[in-house]
Amino acid sequence: MNGVKLIKDVAVEGKRVFVRVDFNVPLDAQGNVSDETRIVAALPTIQFLLERGAKVILASHLGRPKGQVVAKYSLRPVAQTLATKLNQPILFLEDCIGAVVEEAVQAMAENSIVLLENLRFHTEEEANDLEFSKSLARLADVYVNDAFGTAHRAHASTVGMVAFVPQKAVGFLIEKELQYLEQKVGHPDRPFCVILGGAKVSDKIHVIDALLNKADRILIGGAMAYTFALAQGQTVGSSLVERDKVELALQLLQKAKSNEVALCLPVDTVATDKMDRERRTLGTLKTFHGSIDEGWEGVDIGPKTTEIYTKFIHEAKTILWNGPLGVFEIEASAAGSIKIAQAMAASTGTTIVGGGDCVKAIHQSGCAQQISFLSTGGGASLKLLEGKALPGLEALKQ
Ligand code: AMP
Repeated sequence: MNGVKLIKDVAVEGKRVFVRVDFNVPLDAQGNVSDETRIVAALPTIQFLLERGAKVILASHLGRPKGQVVAKYSLRPVAQTLATKLNQPILFLEDCIGAVVEEAVQAMAENSIVLLENLRFHTEEEANDLEFSKSLARLADVYVNDAFGTAHRAHASTVGMVAFVPQKAVGFLIEKELQYLEQKVGHPDRPFCVILGGAKVSDKIHVIDALLNKADRILIGGAMAYTFALAQGQTVGSSLVERDKVELALQLLQKAKSNEVALCLPVDTVATDKMDRERRTLGTLKTFHGSIDEGWEGVDIGPKTTEIYTKFIHEAKTILWNGPLGVFEIEASAAGSIKIAQAMAASTGTTIVGGGDCVKAIHQSGCAQQISFLSTGGGASLKLLEGKALPGLEALKQ
């Protein structure tokens, strides 16, 4: 796959296999893992290695301890959850480098697992420090990266150490991300329909620009739609806009025209006269067709837009969705995103959903099983969609 080896292509039998996983899980007030999704997602790679008699060394970051040992960011609770899931003991080590760690790894039996303490307890991890990278590399015969969410960062555990380990590959999670975000999006079954939402055009300019070379249709929602509305001479009331990006929105509309891509903007908007994000409440709601009046703030795509977008989703053979279509965190303005999630689920085409909010919308509407692929990496998936190289993947190229 683009010069990157897959885990099934390297010999792991009896080897010390260092796996960079994403165990950046939420913990509750008692310090227990409150959402196991990321741990469960890592199981196929871990089980594959165990079945082949590998010695599995797991490493991750958790939270932002900023190079300090911070008890609440310890990975110890993850060891317990993982042991229960695999029905096998996990040896938890209180550091990720050093003599004690090296001895423990040296003493590992085949089919056993070690979980290292939070990589970010050392500033050297995020600094991609050479000596720290070498110390991590000393633990491994084979390096496997299965942490897609950090593949766009050049850290010691994602880039620095890789050069010092003879064999390297991606795990099953990253393999799947590449299969969908690179291959399916790069060579889509057509029509290929993209839905983009979220707060800002500026965050997604490069993605829109890149997708204007690939998609047949792009459906815009969320607050970024208001910057496009301004560009078309409409008023947007007190909606969230980026006035300095209007020119850019115009350029994107122009590019869409010359590439013959249908760039669709909402035809109606649900707006409110008052939004309290903290209390998650809205005041009076009103639907505007076209311009939004002064004193009103757009919070969701309107029913007519939802209907039109649903029809486009239904017609498409490949559908990619990134970014919520409204203020999804507040129930009264989540309808657009939920209905789009349902339309994706009802599609018989390949459906790909990325970004935390959209994945939440999919789960909330109870249709995760009907989606072809839910991407786990926010920043990393946007970079990949922009067609940019991810340092963590470049490092793996032989
Ligand atoms: P992003 O991280 O760029 O995908 O943006 C997600 C955020 O966009 C969420 O927190 C939403 O509340 C926000 N958002 C979506 N639509 C709107 C809107 N119409 N007005 C304000 N914020 C919005």
